[in-house]
Amino acid sequence: MKVLVINAGSSSLKYQLIDMDTMTVMAKGLCERIGIDGSNLQHKNLIKNVEEKIEKPMNDHSDAIRMVIDALVDTEYGVIASMDEIGAVGHRVVHGGEYFSDSVIINDDVKKALDLCTPLAPLHNPPNIIGIEACEKIMPGVKQVGVFDTAFHQTMPKEAYMYAIPYEYYEKYKIRKYGFHGTSHKFVAGEAAKMAGKPIEELKIITCHLGNGSSVTAVDGGKSVDTSMGFTPLDGVVMGTRSGSIDPAVVTYLMNVENLDAKGVDNVLNKKSGVFGISGISSDFRDLIKGSEEGNERAQIALDMFNYSVKKLIGAYAAAMGGVDVVVFTAGVGENTVSARSEICKGLEFMGIAIDEEANKSRGLKDITKPGAKVKTFVIPTNEELMIAVDTKRLTEGK
Ligand code: AMP
Repeated sequence: MKVLVINAGSSSLKYQLIDMDTMTVMAKGLCERIGIDGSNLQHKNLIKNVEEKIEKPMNDHSDAIRMVIDALVDTEYGVIASMDEIGAVGHRVVHGGEYFSDSVIINDDVKKALDLCTPLAPLHNPPNIIGIEACEKIMPGVKQVGVFDTAFHQTMPKEAYMYAIPYEYYEKYKIRKYGFHGTSHKFVAGEAAKMAGKPIEELKIITCHLGNGSSVTAVDGGKSVDTSMGFTPLDGVVMGTRSGSIDPAVVTYLMNVENLDAKGVDNVLNKKSGVFGISGISSDFRDLIKGSEEGNERAQIALDMFNYSVKKLIGAYAAAMGGVDVVVFTAGVGENTVSARSEICKGLEFMGIAIDEEANKSRGLKDITKPGAKVKTFVIPTNEELMIAVDTKRLTEGK
């Protein structure tokens, strides 16, 4: 079965065509500037290893999907003979609210629930829904599956997901912790169990998805029991441009002293904070590491704050689960930034976490546990697209 994975943003659309029989990515690409001058599609045929950039106006996501299909069936750089070879489509959807604790085949009821989730992710859910509707129009009869960033975290207990604000706000507005990056946390937790050679049901795993956006999750017996992102992806770890957890009173104080409205303060906390806001240089860890090596004190403070915020969560989640067997590092920073892994794990020997500094220097999938350490530490490249395709196959095959 071949699954088309779609990740639709407001003016972009990423795709991968995955052959689930061989678990290989046949083609992938990106439509940019949808609805804007200069729209283009960058397509890679990974079987023949050829690339093609097609510049053509795309007025909306339907045009984009049509171009994706055209590229996939193209005789020169395509990978399939006809659209009929696509068995199902898996869509990344950011927010499933309390409606979805698993991926789901899209139908009219699901679409109604997705609309109800839109106020919770006003920037992300609408393009996801438009992507689904565009595929329904262009590929009628092909099953569409929604895979949610929030679904994996729906197993959190109430004491972990409630905020101590008046209960009526939870009832009226569904204000609670939802958590994000669920597809990634679920994927790497599953891979970690395979690497540890134990059933996931028997393991306490802490997954650290550290990228431009970062979150840490406590996975007990295969289920998310706590995670660091909250009602929105702003909470938790210090991020590229996002503040992570701060005293909520800072928000109203800043509004007063800087004369900011709600939108203004939201912009500061989401776009101007994090390691970028502290360093004043960049949100990219490569720039920060270079900066700190050149003696930039603020770059070093930013790195220290990031590492400390992750370290504290590892301690917290070990306490939440009553122990930890495996720590996983994934995503851009988690997979590539040697010093971050090293600094985060430093001082955690008391709880059995210790890494082999030599093994830690290499990139890619790796067991970096120091020989003899009680807790396993793995670097596992995330693969959200594969996870989406796996769920899409699971739900649609034979249906
Ligand atoms: P992501 O959001 O998962 O794509 O992660 C993006 C971040 O990963 C970038 O902002 C970089 O800080 C970091 N990153 C990516 N590659 C490297 C690398 N080779 N070395 C250090 N950091 C990296």
